Amino acid sequence: MENSPKLKKWLNEFKLNHPLVIAGPCSAETEVQVLKIANELKNTDVTAFRAGIWKPRTRPGNFEGVGAIGLKWLQKVKSETGLLTCTEVANRVHVRLALEHDIDILWIGARSTVSPFIVQEIADALKGTNKIVLIKNPVNPDLALWLGGIERLYSSDIKKLGVIHRGFSTYEQTKYRNNPEWQIPIELQNKFPDLPLICDPSHIAGRRDIIQDLCQTALDLNFDGLMVETHVDPNNAWSDAKQQIKPSVLIKMMKNLKIRELSGRDAKFKNKLSTYRAQIDVLDANILDNLSKRMKVVNKIGTIKKNHNVSVLQSKRWNEILEKMILNGESVGLNEEFISKIFKAIHQESINEQDKVINS
Ligand code: PEP
Ligand code: MN
Repeated sequence: MENSPKLKKWLNEFKLNHPLVIAGPCSAETEVQVLKIANELKNTDVTAFRAGIWKPRTRPGNFEGVGAIGLKWLQKVKSETGLLTCTEVANRVHVRLALEHDIDILWIGARSTVSPFIVQEIADALKGTNKIVLIKNPVNPDLALWLGGIERLYSSDIKKLGVIHRGFSTYEQTKYRNNPEWQIPIELQNKFPDLPLICDPSHIAGRRDIIQDLCQTALDLNFDGLMVETHVDPNNAWSDAKQQIKPSVLIKMMKNLKIRELSGRDAKFKNKLSTYRAQIDVLDANILDNLSKRMKVVNKIGTIKKNHNVSVLQSKRWNEILEKMILNGESVGLNEEFISKIFKAIHQESINEQDKVINS
């Protein structure tokens, strides 16, 4: 897929002076709930109303969505509030029904993007339509799979394409429900700078309190839009209750977000500079995270050395690490002296840590 500047055309047609905001509940529950939320979002910076009708649940037995009846509620949202409508489709029947009800924006969920068969089925069903289609990243951190999904849609002649970053599942417990791994959408953005990139902080966070920070990071990284789960009674939502925020909270949050100037020569330079700086911040946070993980393993080694009465300094092992790191460093363009300095400092700190463990 060539990087066609046309890709951003559909977004530019909205003529927004702020990022695109899509908001609404995780799931449509009742007609009253849907209309109540939509009415609180109308006449704000929100452009499109989202609601899941068919819900992909990790485990069976949870609420699986109201089904096709919800499409009628979305039509009512559009006629009552003027908001565009947006829902998830996961097979050809969903696509047909969504098209019949003239839903404006269709998104492909993270559990569907992992399956090339499903994405192809959806792409085939959408062929020849003029809908905006957004594809979420796959649940696992696999950029190729995400790109494959984009290519399948593009090959089906869907020109109004965009992507949604909703974080990646990890085995490890972190403060996020789905790890942001910002370097992956950044790489995608570098490959396709004209593909609209939207952040879904709700599924990254899995909780309310860090949604604003996630939105700000996304905007600093030059994302084009946000999709935020919004509910009038978040605590009693039928799905994803912990991560939904009230419309009033979203409106306040949008006022507090710092949005960068997107036009003018100087602004262009500043914009680029802050995008790179935000990328550096992400990389630095990864370095710290890895150093802290490394130190925890060092600590565990300290404990077994203590139990087996083995000395802290193991010169042979240390020389092997240093040699290997210098060689690996050179192969990725890093200077020997620099790598040597860094690893000597890491090694020294590791010895200090193990000394503490052994003498505790
Ligand atoms: C959703 O948007 O409600 C949803 C199910 O998201 P995801 O596919 O990212 O899990
Ligand atoms: Mn959800």
